[in-house]
Amino acid sequence: MEQEHLKLVDPEVYGSLQKEKQRERGKIVLIASENYVSKAVLEAQGSIFTNKYAEGYPGRRYYGGCEYADQVETLAVKRAQELFGAEHVNVQPHSGSQANMAVYFSFLKPGDTILGMSLNQGGHLSHGSSVNFSGLLFKSISYGVDRDTGYIDYDGVRRIALEHNPQMIVAGASAYSRILDFKAFSDIAKEVGAFFMADIAHIAGLIAAGLHPSPIPFADFITTTTHKTLRGPRGGMIMCKTEHGKAIDKMIFPGIQGGPLVHVIAAKAVALKEALGRDFTTYQEQVLKNAKRLAQELIKKGFKIISGGTDNHLMLVDLSDSHITGKEAEEALDSAGITVNKNAIPYDSRPPAITSGIRLGTPCVTTRGMGEEEMAEIADIIEKVLKNCKNANEMNQLTHRVKTLCEHFPIY
Ligand code: PLP
Repeated sequence: MEQEHLKLVDPEVYGSLQKEKQRERGKIVLIASENYVSKAVLEAQGSIFTNKYAEGYPGRRYYGGCEYADQVETLAVKRAQELFGAEHVNVQPHSGSQANMAVYFSFLKPGDTILGMSLNQGGHLSHGSSVNFSGLLFKSISYGVDRDTGYIDYDGVRRIALEHNPQMIVAGASAYSRILDFKAFSDIAKEVGAFFMADIAHIAGLIAAGLHPSPIPFADFITTTTHKTLRGPRGGMIMCKTEHGKAIDKMIFPGIQGGPLVHVIAAKAVALKEALGRDFTTYQEQVLKNAKRLAQELIKKGFKIISGGTDNHLMLVDLSDSHITGKEAEEALDSAGITVNKNAIPYDSRPPAITSGIRLGTPCVTTRGMGEEEMAEIADIIEKVLKNCKNANEMNQLTHRVKTLCEHFPIY
């Protein structure tokens, strides 16, 4: 029996875990930032490496007994270097936000200016939001998307950069469905004498598979999470040129973190090995095909997608002309077994807790083995849920369709 000790020692946590297992198995997850890790990644993450303190870096630790921690960290670094073509890699950040913090703290002074994508236009909290350390400690200015096209307004980015002379320009987003032009960002950064950081948290798996242009030739720093399209454990990672490596390493430890999470680093190593395999490219190709098909089917049904479609794994559905808010749509879909998140759309008139949009992504459903036909079925269910969420009979039927899909494409 799985988790027999947990069941015995802590039936409450065991109970929650069983329910979470049922939830993950029994619902269609379209949250763009989530994925299902492999059993190999789970085994590494749930391993006795959690017992080990390993402050420092391979070969220069502040604790004894680190020889096997050194092995897994070295493997993770080497694999990330190979996968992304990066000169220097730090696999110790506990999260994407901490990876970003380490870059800012290494190369900026408090009060310096960061130019990032606005949170309410698709950016991330750690790119300068006023409620986040990045906006509290640094002066934050932001760019956004063109109101008509939904694409990043690169002329606007340049204009703002020339006006404010930021010390750091950040490219990267949590809710942007188009290719990021890293060269354009890099040119603007060079013109104003700023550092350029690419945060590839969402699209790391696509970049690893060669399906989105890489920022490696253009960015001074590249940060990422390892748990979204990259399909590894929850955590962060930093890549940079060799010349910046020492400063980054020193800022992660001892600057902002203590002991690394060796069990997570072991799981990162496993996920990076998986990402180097040929199956991973096939997976990422399917993620893209599925996202394109889902967007097309929704557009056919009359939904508006911000920017008119998607080049990556996600899309933002604009509900501003419909009778339903983002919050209501999230709740209605969840009650039918489809998990999404409400999301502000660019120039949203509703507050962040309500919103006029939902963000949909295909990494999870693709990991389950679903293909384009299933995307058409999911689009049909979404449309009917949003139209008929007050009709109990109809909702029962839709919930049944979701259940059938989940049974045909089991996970774990
Ligand atoms: N950067 C981007 C673009 C993200 O989308 C996210 C998370 O959603 C992060 C950074 C932060 O990652 P974490 O939640 O691990 O701090």
